[in-house]
Amino acid sequence: MGKVYIVGAGPGDLELLTLKGKRCIEEADCIVYDRLVNPQILSLAQRECEMIYLGKGNTEGGVIQDEINRTIVEKAKEGKIVTRLKGGDPFVFGRGGEEILALNKAKIPFEVVPGITSSISVPSYSGIPVTHRNIARSFHVFTGHTSKEGTWHNFDAIAKLEGTLVFLMGIKNLDLITNDLIKYGKSPTTPVAIIEKGSTSKQIVIEGTLETIAKIAKEEKVVPPAIIIIGEVVNLRSEFNWFEKLPLFGKNIMTTRDYTKSVEFAYEIEKLGGKATILPLINIESLDIQLDIKDAKAILFNSQNGVKTFFEKLEDVRVLGDKKIGVVGIKTYEELLKYRIKPDFMPEKYLGEKLAEESVNFTEDGDKIVYITSDISLIKTEEWSKKLNRNFVKTRIFKTEKVIIDDIYDKIKDVDLITFLSASAVNAYIESLGDKNHNPKIKIASIGEMTTKSIKNYGLEVEIEAKISTAQGLLAEIKNYYTNL
Ligand code: SAH
Repeated sequence: MGKVYIVGAGPGDLELLTLKGKRCIEEADCIVYDRLVNPQILSLAQRECEMIYLGKGNTEGGVIQDEINRTIVEKAKEGKIVTRLKGGDPFVFGRGGEEILALNKAKIPFEVVPGITSSISVPSYSGIPVTHRNIARSFHVFTGHTSKEGTWHNFDAIAKLEGTLVFLMGIKNLDLITNDLIKYGKSPTTPVAIIEKGSTSKQIVIEGTLETIAKIAKEEKVVPPAIIIIGEVVNLRSEFNWFEKLPLFGKNIMTTRDYTKSVEFAYEIEKLGGKATILPLINIESLDIQLDIKDAKAILFNSQNGVKTFFEKLEDVRVLGDKKIGVVGIKTYEELLKYRIKPDFMPEKYLGEKLAEESVNFTEDGDKIVYITSDISLIKTEEWSKKLNRNFVKTRIFKTEKVIIDDIYDKIKDVDLITFLSASAVNAYIESLGDKNHNPKIKIASIGEMTTKSIKNYGLEVEIEAKISTAQGLLAEIKNYYTNL
């Protein structure tokens, strides 16, 4: 018998997931999630984890709830650890309780992991505190849906509450809600805000009063998911708004590196308030080779992936004891430090050839020097061997495959900026476009000279180029660009 974790995933921002929720995702054999869950959260799961999306459009639909109940019971009976991921908190209009009833009936063990509910966090992300000294001493959360039988809240009582009123799922009935509140005595000038897609880079906030908000919402075409917040606290937004001021807020930035690195990069983008579109255009795979470094006097690395793959293959780190180690690039350097190895040398210029030249100072005539690199690296070991009087041996340890994405033109139409961190990714992008041209509305950012060159070779403009050729350097330049825009 497996187990089910009913987990709240928070309102949208990846980092508003709890540590416990994260653990449940990492342990899961199967994840059942709904439409309000940030897809990036799913990348925390194991690769083999089965992903089941159940939550089309209307989360209120009874049919889909039956299917969810059935699915989690079935998967747990298969002996799996099932994580049922829900937006916000499972018990705040999340129907978590119904799932528990189904699990109990089938005698399946479960745990509930509370989540950060949108009812308070979405207002926070728009600079509206649900309570504030001398302004609101309570807050009240309602569903804006009428029940199946058509019964409606007692607005006579609600209108008399002095605290902040929060309505979830209330867009369809916005007219009804505001009219009833006024009808039963709330002042028509009470401030109201509606927050759409809160805590995401697409957050939109509109403001008005009980009297005006329904019209404004129609004009602005507000769509779910959105929260309605009513009360004087709304006025604090002008001073407390912080999220929308983050440097990448509202920007949709595409990452094209291999999946693992794309996820890391995406995380950095979202920390700055942006939305990341993860679309890896290259794939890194370890090659099936035996390391032959026994009699080598020096080992050279020209990439982080090279170091990583090398250590995956190395059985006993002590064989490195008598060997000099050289790297090119700060990232390669840092990767080696992770294995508690301090490189003996690193050329100032980011060039594979310089690395070979420098290795001469650490070896003697005829010494064997192993150069760990990728399948497409253009390093010229034969030429160097002759010129530098050493025996350079190239070991291709990983391969970089282009990933061709069908319909890429349509898939990225909402993207503001594409980031390229290698020429291979550029090639894969152009191949993916096929007979379509690059959409000129989408700007391009490049990690450095070499990548920029290959972008320009295709006749495309580079809007942003990193000053330091690392992902961090590129991010810094992107941040600069949008801050100064
Ligand atoms: N369990 C969830 C609520 C589920 S009901 C929670 O605790 O947050 C779904 C409603 O939640 C939506 O219709 C909307 O009113 C609100 N909601 C959820 N996420 C939201 C977001 N990111 N921005 C605005 N409203 C959101």
